[in-house]
Amino acid sequence: MHGFAYRNGSLHCEDVDLQSLAESHGTPLYVYSAGTIRDHYRRLDQALEGVDHEVAYAVKANSNLSVLRLLADEGAGFDIVSGGELFRVIEAGGEPARCTFAGVGKTRREIEYALEQGIYSFNVESEAELRYLDQVAGELGVTAPAAVRVNPNVDARTHKYISTGKSENKFGVDFEQIADLYARAAKDLPNVRLRGIQMHIGSQLTSIQPFIEAVEKVAPLAARLRDEHGIEFWSIGGGIGIIYQDCLRSGTIDWWDEKSEQDRPLTLDEYGRELVPRLRDLGLRILLEPGRCIAGNAGVLLTTCLYEKKGSAKTFKIVDAGMNDLIRPALYEGYHEIVPLREPGAERLKVDVVGPICESGDFFCQDHELPDFQPGEAVALMSSGAYGFVMASNYNTRPMPAEVLVDGDKASVIRKRQTLEDLVAAER
Ligand SMILES: *Cc1c(COP(=O)(O)O)cnc(C)c1O
Repeated sequence: MHGFAYRNGSLHCEDVDLQSLAESHGTPLYVYSAGTIRDHYRRLDQALEGVDHEVAYAVKANSNLSVLRLLADEGAGFDIVSGGELFRVIEAGGEPARCTFAGVGKTRREIEYALEQGIYSFNVESEAELRYLDQVAGELGVTAPAAVRVNPNVDARTHKYISTGKSENKFGVDFEQIADLYARAAKDLPNVRLRGIQMHIGSQLTSIQPFIEAVEKVAPLAARLRDEHGIEFWSIGGGIGIIYQDCLRSGTIDWWDEKSEQDRPLTLDEYGRELVPRLRDLGLRILLEPGRCIAGNAGVLLTTCLYEKKGSAKTFKIVDAGMNDLIRPALYEGYHEIVPLREPGAERLKVDVVGPICESGDFFCQDHELPDFQPGEAVALMSSGAYGFVMASNYNTRPMPAEVLVDGDKASVIRKRQTLEDLVAAER
């Protein structure tokens, strides 16, 4: 479920008319639904009922301070991948003691900062990193809590750029090497406290099977590390996929009723139903690191059509958002449903929707049947709440868009649009 639907002929986010937001704040404009973020967090939390667990929101999916504050208020922990993200969590009122720190390339500064702040665990991705963590902690006279990320060599069956759990990916330590690494660390690394084990096999997984495969493969290893080294947690990562095709209708009960059991996308209920029985009796605290499934369907990017160009081969709708604002289509062939803010009729037209950037990869769809919209009209790129604004850049010297958070009938600007002065402020 998400908070976007047509009401009285115009697309709303919760109780707010998106056309009015586009007019008062301009486009491109990211708009998030607070109710949807809360709902998704709570559903996932409830799905894991029956096992000692913590939901550590993956900050990189959407790291706006207001979004983090909202999740901190819900009781979320946080999965961070940089010192910058830890700073954001602290600024938003989150607790460092509920943060796990992932990533293959942590720097000394980042390690020191996280040690000083007292994070819950470093999720370490190589033996070299574990040894360095031990060294830095020793120099600071502290003990570093750590978990090693296991690469279970399971195919997540997702786009190759967001698959992370195969041996050929740069992430984690090979499954076969983990037990020896823990044994060496327990013997040689006095400043590291082995606190858990971690895995994360990929993003946008639309089937439960790879999760089951990975959990079943790693569970005996986790049990062994619990017995031999007293680890207390197992983070099973994030990666739960969301709906990109037909996102708008998926927010209605009808849509779910129409889907056969087989066609239904992975739901949070199914995730919990399948995994809880496989995790329940391990005596380990289960951590989850969801990003996309919390924030993805909770956001849209509003953009205005500037021009229409009819070539001999194609019709192009040129819009004011580009790949610098939303890079998923260009980066990993991501698709975002495109819907006009004024409720359209049934007629459809085959078009390319393209941005203003000087790159052929700057498109939001190609040869796609869409409801018609005219220059001057705004459309929403659905499912843009995760890996949207956070990946935006100033390429082509374009100011970053503004972000608005809607909560009921209230809409707040949670990040101002950049000005031209902002663009050059740090330069000389
Ligand atoms: C990106 C990432 C996540 C979140 O992935 P989603 O697909 O957004 O749920 C979780 N854990 C780690 C280590 C990550 O790198």
